[in-house]
Amino acid sequence: MYIVLIGPQGSGKGTQADRLVNSLGVMKISTGELFRAERAAGTELGKLVAGILDAGELVPDDVTIAIVESRLEEVDRGAALGAVFDGFPRNLSQAEALDVALDGRGAAIDHVVEIAISEDKLVRRLSGRRVCSNCGAVYHIDHAPPSVPGVCDRCGGKVEQRADDTPEAIRRRLAIFAEMTRPLLAYYAERGIVSQVDGDQPMEAVEKDILSIIQDGSGAA
Ligand code: AMP
Repeated sequence: MYIVLIGPQGSGKGTQADRLVNSLGVMKISTGELFRAERAAGTELGKLVAGILDAGELVPDDVTIAIVESRLEEVDRGAALGAVFDGFPRNLSQAEALDVALDGRGAAIDHVVEIAISEDKLVRRLSGRRVCSNCGAVYHIDHAPPSVPGVCDRCGGKVEQRADDTPEAIRRRLAIFAEMTRPLLAYYAERGIVSQVDGDQPMEAVEKDILSIIQDGSGAA
């Protein structure tokens, strides 16, 4: 099964993708997380993308598609029962490349779920967001802090604010989302695979809505 989550930064896509990994046995393919891991490891790719990430701009499509392809090859080798995409595709050419990659595997995207959320809530979430620099676990200083401040509950890694959660980079990323990513909903809607969930709810309720869409087709907007 292949699922695409679409929503602006702070809508909870990453958290929901983690939950789907547990409930459906799919692989999470989060291009943002993959790039941050490359940067933390100091690889050539990491050095190439560091400045782009900090500015909130998009990494070139060929680089992004290559990193997704390498994860899909792990799915091919039986590592998971499909994938949930978080932060990919982000524009039309990535969406087309994903279609080609899945088609070559005799597969297709089964569900596209839009996580809708008000802008006010988004800004509050993003400014309080903290992320483990080692495993990518997401926290919030007000309603989901780590048990020990600054230390990841999951792996003991350092929990910090993302370099691109600054007001300028947040604004840039939201503008890119509105210009390039939101239009993908129309691209997928033609296939009748798009549903919307209310992202302004507690994360358990959002997960329940997503699972009901995936498992029995209900809850679609
Ligand atoms: P995210 O964690 O999804 O907010 O992504 C963080 C940053 O990684 C973005 O602001 C981009 O610089 C880069 N990035 C993540 N996914 C993509 C993508 N699909 N295409 C291009 N750049 C991406």
